[in-house]
Amino acid sequence: MSNSNGLFVFDEEQEVNDLNKKVIKILTVEDDINYQNALTNSLKEMQVDEEYTIEVLVANSISQAALVLSSHPDIALTFIDVVLEDDDSGLRLVDTIREVLGNSDMRIVLLTGQPGFAPEQHVMKSLDIDEYWNKSDVSAEKLQSIVTSNLRTWQYISQISSARKGLQLVLDASRSINSKHDMRSFSKAVLEEISNILHITNGGGIICSSGDSNTKAIISTANGCFDGFEGQLVEQGVLSSDIYTDFELAITEKRHVFSKHHTVFYFETKSLDNKSYVTIVKSDNSIGEQNEYLLKVFSENVNTGFSNIALLNKLTELAYTDVSLNLHNRNWLTREIRNMNLHEQYRTKLIVFEVEQFEEKAFTFGHDFCQILLIEVYKNIKLTFASFSPRIAIINNSSFGLLVNTDVEISKEMITVLNRPMCQIQMVRQYADVRVLEMGLRSVLSFSPEKIISIAESSLSDNRSTSSKYIKHSQEKTEALTKRFSLMAKLRAAIGSGSLEVALQPKMDLVDLTPIGFEALARWQLKDGSFISPEVFIELAETAGLISELDCVIFDKILATIQELKNKGINLPVAFNASAFDLANPQYFDRIAQKIHEVNIDPSMLELEITETQAISNYDLIRESLEKFMALGIKVGIDDFGTGYSSISHITEITANILKIDRCFICNIEHNTDNQYILEMIVNLAKRFNFSIIIEGIETLEQCNWAKKIGCNVAQGYYFSKPLFVKDLIEWLKQYEKP
Ligand code: C2E
Ligand code: MG
Ligand code: MG
Repeated sequence: MSNSNGLFVFDEEQEVNDLNKKVIKILTVEDDINYQNALTNSLKEMQVDEEYTIEVLVANSISQAALVLSSHPDIALTFIDVVLEDDDSGLRLVDTIREVLGNSDMRIVLLTGQPGFAPEQHVMKSLDIDEYWNKSDVSAEKLQSIVTSNLRTWQYISQISSARKGLQLVLDASRSINSKHDMRSFSKAVLEEISNILHITNGGGIICSSGDSNTKAIISTANGCFDGFEGQLVEQGVLSSDIYTDFELAITEKRHVFSKHHTVFYFETKSLDNKSYVTIVKSDNSIGEQNEYLLKVFSENVNTGFSNIALLNKLTELAYTDVSLNLHNRNWLTREIRNMNLHEQYRTKLIVFEVEQFEEKAFTFGHDFCQILLIEVYKNIKLTFASFSPRIAIINNSSFGLLVNTDVEISKEMITVLNRPMCQIQMVRQYADVRVLEMGLRSVLSFSPEKIISIAESSLSDNRSTSSKYIKHSQEKTEALTKRFSLMAKLRAAIGSGSLEVALQPKMDLVDLTPIGFEALARWQLKDGSFISPEVFIELAETAGLISELDCVIFDKILATIQELKNKGINLPVAFNASAFDLANPQYFDRIAQKIHEVNIDPSMLELEITETQAISNYDLIRESLEKFMALGIKVGIDDFGTGYSSISHITEITANILKIDRCFICNIEHNTDNQYILEMIVNLAKRFNFSIIIEGIETLEQCNWAKKIGCNVAQGYYFSKPLFVKDLIEWLKQYEKP
């Protein structure tokens, strides 16, 4: 093929070297060099739209074609000779373009010199081959129309495909920024993603924020050509004048401003934190209509991102703030400790200030008064430690925690200042005394921040009985508390698994010296076989809020024990110990009544004991419960009677049937005339008010005789028997002989 056969027209005047024009690449794959030259020349000289210029690429074999295709993925149109090395080489090349390279945008025109080699229709369709021509049929006009129509199709296809890719980019970009939850990484990601969307090679971006319209915006994040701008105020000289003008426009009109080489976005989170953000992006490539559209879509996500972070910050702030006092809270102090490295912890001490008699003050003066009082205490602490950069938080309803360097010495003067007369609240002059505990974090290095604060609190409350206003926490104290915490965890497990046991101690009739009932006492045996005293674990359960669960487990065992004794023909009442925590809970009675009903035993087979101290100090809360138990037929006994505060004066009011006189009165009774006198008085009083009397802790025959002598009918004590597990008790009952 040559010029002489008139297939192509050459336009000698055409200028193709205009750099501003968009380059359209056309590839010809042809092993007939003459034909290829003619084709190439014709293509080069072809008339196309003014804004385009054609670049013709050539390949004479499949392997050359593969090389060109891999380095020019943006080829618009390819002419392929069907018969190259083999009869179907051309078709295989098309298959590679579509399937292996995944290029579906490129338009493909097949050419052949042998008409019989036309590919079948379905192959054309599946490989998306646009046209098939006999080389001899391709006239100059034909070539012009083939190229024009295919280039138009390619343009449409590539526009759609780039829009799709653009949207995919926006989608990926949105995903990427949405995974950032702090402002710094979010802002960085926003700038990076905008650069990706715009394919910025030369340019960059900044994000700046401002509080309100009076404050100047400050650059918080910068990249690309703005690298190093962070921290600067946005001012005329900092940004070029055209960008600065659009920046001001965006701020005043609260909108995005798009321009050919830069874009200014305006975002605000005023409803959440009264802030606005401006993002400026500069690109040396022209931004273009399609990219502007993509940026608008993306900016919606950025806006949501700014709002989400503002919301998150607000929630985080709330989580670390005591809202009613507007002070840092316990979580905050915990986080401060958590954020310290080991060295910092070593150099820090925690000081806890507890307002004394806070509960009483709250009860007497009310909530509002106490809030003011706490603020006053807070101010005083802050002032006293002002020169030591204190970090202060309220850690529970009556205490503050303070972190300071270990160099800070707490002097006597400081304690005095902290306890000075404080303020006049609601016409009342107040002395807000505080107790202070000092604890070097180095003594509790192995503990979690939550535990560290609890240890300080426990240490302070353990020392409540001491009159000292200042307590220094020691390593030994940590060890003791650690043991206690560990015991508490074991107790929790023991209650959970129901592994606590019940021991029974006989109550004896002193007239005929026979057992008339038992008291059930909780027993806790550790895995090593040792027993923990109820004096220890009952108190532990009360502190840990486990006492109701414990009593519930024990009560179930008591019911089972009554059943077991009944099966052996022993039908005597069993007393159980209840705590004020139980009785103050209105559901406690219902639960017990339900259980009794379920096992179908007579309520008179049970008696309830509550210690005098607990009964008196919570009397208003538990009276109703006690009345219900008595109405059901369960006798109520006041345990450890005589040890509680103002017991005698309350005797007439008490809802109970039995007074159990504490063992401290009987111990050493033979030689203690005071106790003899008190005991006689209690017994006489009790009789006058129709209470039955039980005397506890009888250990000797003499004590037994004394109890009898002063008119006490029932007694309990080691003299008769220690508390026994049911199996041993049954044995004891069998062998019991009256003394
Ligand atoms: P309590 O109810 O006053 O029980 C009597 C305590 O005195 C028992 O101590 C018993 O073992 C002991 N005792 C009995 N006779 C003598 C004696 O002759 N001499 C001496 N020195 N002691 C004697 P225990 O078992 O250590 O219980 C201590 C306290 O723990 C009980 O005092 C009771 O207040 C409480 N407690 C025991 N079990 C439970 C329970 O299941 N629930 C609740 N809430 N408290 C319980
Ligand atoms: Mg008791
Ligand atoms: Mg007792």
